[in-house]
Amino acid sequence: MKLAVTDLTAGYGKAQVLFGISLEVAQGELVALLGANGAGKTTTLRTISGLIRPWAGSVALDGHSLLGISAARRAQMGLGHVPEGRQLFPLMSVEENLLLGAAFLAWAGKSEQLERIYALFPRLAERRWQMAGTLSGGEQQMLAIGRALMGRPRILMVDEPSLGLSPKLAEEVLTTLAQVKGEGVGVLLVEQNVALSLEVADRGYVVEHGRVVLQGSARELSSNEGVQKAYLAL
Ligand code: ATP
Repeated sequence: MKLAVTDLTAGYGKAQVLFGISLEVAQGELVALLGANGAGKTTTLRTISGLIRPWAGSVALDGHSLLGISAARRAQMGLGHVPEGRQLFPLMSVEENLLLGAAFLAWAGKSEQLERIYALFPRLAERRWQMAGTLSGGEQQMLAIGRALMGRPRILMVDEPSLGLSPKLAEEVLTTLAQVKGEGVGVLLVEQNVALSLEVADRGYVVEHGRVVLQGSARELSSNEGVQKAYLAL
């Protein structure tokens, strides 16, 4: 499966935020969407997942336009989204939170998915009956990713997973995303931590003021002088 975004423009009310974003993510690759606060990264993800209606441009899965298709239906079609801030249910158990991510699967599918997620995140398996709100920040982020994976996405979008985490936990979470990619899922990662995301990403796009200003392999971006000055403080 391939996600293709072409010339996407969108905004809030009359305020335009995206001025023509184009990007692609294929299954089995990890793509970073980089840029400063307010550049439009979250708005891009929300438009792709159908939470915001684009003004113009297209979002397509395997060449089929998603125009007019609801966010819920897009999730069923294989587009997963882990929102900024995780949005877990703190008083529900780890397992109950995971099951919410697979509401549309039959029971047999759900238990198979649970086993897959617990194999990927052994720490969630150990804490399956614990309330989500009592987990550490890193574990909560893994739970949010696990919940999105429960729906068997083929493309997974993850918004700022390292937010509020210590450098060590941030690294652990991003390493997990590399594992998710290893399972054949395409990952679109939005991150403020540019150095860390370029370590795990295959490719990346740099967004400034709602436009893609630079794209390339992670290696090309890490050695780009503009990226180094603006984002890597080198
Ligand atoms: P951040 O890392 O801060 O989330 P971002 O690159 O993800 O940054 P967006 O969250 O997409 O950026 O925000 C882009 C612009 O859109 C900002 O100027 C922001 O103030 C504005 N914006 C975001 N959400 C809304 C909203 N619900 N209503 C109005 N304006 C918004």
